[in-house]
Amino acid sequence: MTENLSFKDKVVIITGAGGGLGRVYALEFAKRGANVVVNDLGGSLGGEGHNSRAADVVVKEIQEKYKVRAAANYDSVTDNAAGIVKTAIDSFGRVDVVVNNAGILRDSSFAKMQDAAFDAVVDVHLNGAYKLTKAAWPIFKRQNFGRVVNTCSPAGLYGNFGQANYSAAKLGLVGFSETLAKEGYKSNIFVNCIVPLARSRMTERIIPPHILKNLAPEKIAPMVLYLSHESTKVTNSIFELAAGYYSQIRWERSSGQIFNPDPKTFTSEAILNQWKSVVDYHDKPFNKVTHPIQLSDYNALITKARQL
Ligand code: NAD
Repeated sequence: MTENLSFKDKVVIITGAGGGLGRVYALEFAKRGANVVVNDLGGSLGGEGHNSRAADVVVKEIQEKYKVRAAANYDSVTDNAAGIVKTAIDSFGRVDVVVNNAGILRDSSFAKMQDAAFDAVVDVHLNGAYKLTKAAWPIFKRQNFGRVVNTCSPAGLYGNFGQANYSAAKLGLVGFSETLAKEGYKSNIFVNCIVPLARSRMTERIIPPHILKNLAPEKIAPMVLYLSHESTKVTNSIFELAAGYYSQIRWERSSGQIFNPDPKTFTSEAILNQWKSVVDYHDKPFNKVTHPIQLSDYNALITKARQL
């Protein structure tokens, strides 16, 4: 019999929850008994303007549908992340889960990208997640419990034309999460990244309608809740989620080539000659293909090279 993943008495902060994916998460957490802080500054896709309506509508929807408590917060994650945590503490007395979901787009080719567009996108996605998680972290440590879900993107993992700013911010969140996962582990704070693809105002003008129809945001929420639950033991991981297809992404190191460090032979020409071996993803007798998850996996490699 599968356990029911309840969030009764848990307090969940979701940024950018006034629409799109965040709204769906907020409703699903509330349905399972959580008290939810619905943060949204209610701006445009590019992050201009603000409006309390976006968050208010979702709070009302939660209260009417599920009869649990929800609190609206209209702060920008970039300007007053501490204020978002304060809303949780003032309204519900604690914080258990942070879902860093708020986001904007300011796409343009790299040649034409203005500094302001680069800075604004990095600020909301990366600095916003940093500031909010930083404000919640001491609470998580004190209570020996916390869950953080950070939102990456296929553009962050693979790159995408016109999104140098967004890609940089999103892959930045992967490194951020991997370090927090290590620092939080002993305090029962687990940190993961999701890489969603879903229908929202971010994608409705760039993905064709016949594909969009399969990309309901409701198909992303189950993993976000799973990663946020107290029973989950998953941390330090990246999950790709789209249209009900869930998979894990990891680093892979080729079996590679260990060069003799003698400067007479360790030359650029030696690399040219051994190139195929450097990028070979098949096991070799003494070098295996590996999937590193921590720095010490790298140290093992250095030790091996030094033995030559
Ligand atoms: P969305 O535009 O519907 O939702 C983003 C929300 O964040 C909006 O309601 C917006 O008002 C809010 N927001 C923006 N800046 C904010 C700020 N400074 N402070 C507080 N709130 C702010 O888009 P979405 O598709 O639901 O995106 C949610 C997250 O998922 C984003 O981080 C996005 O980059 C990521 N993502 C989405 C997709 C997708 O396919 N939809 C793919 C990859 C990643």
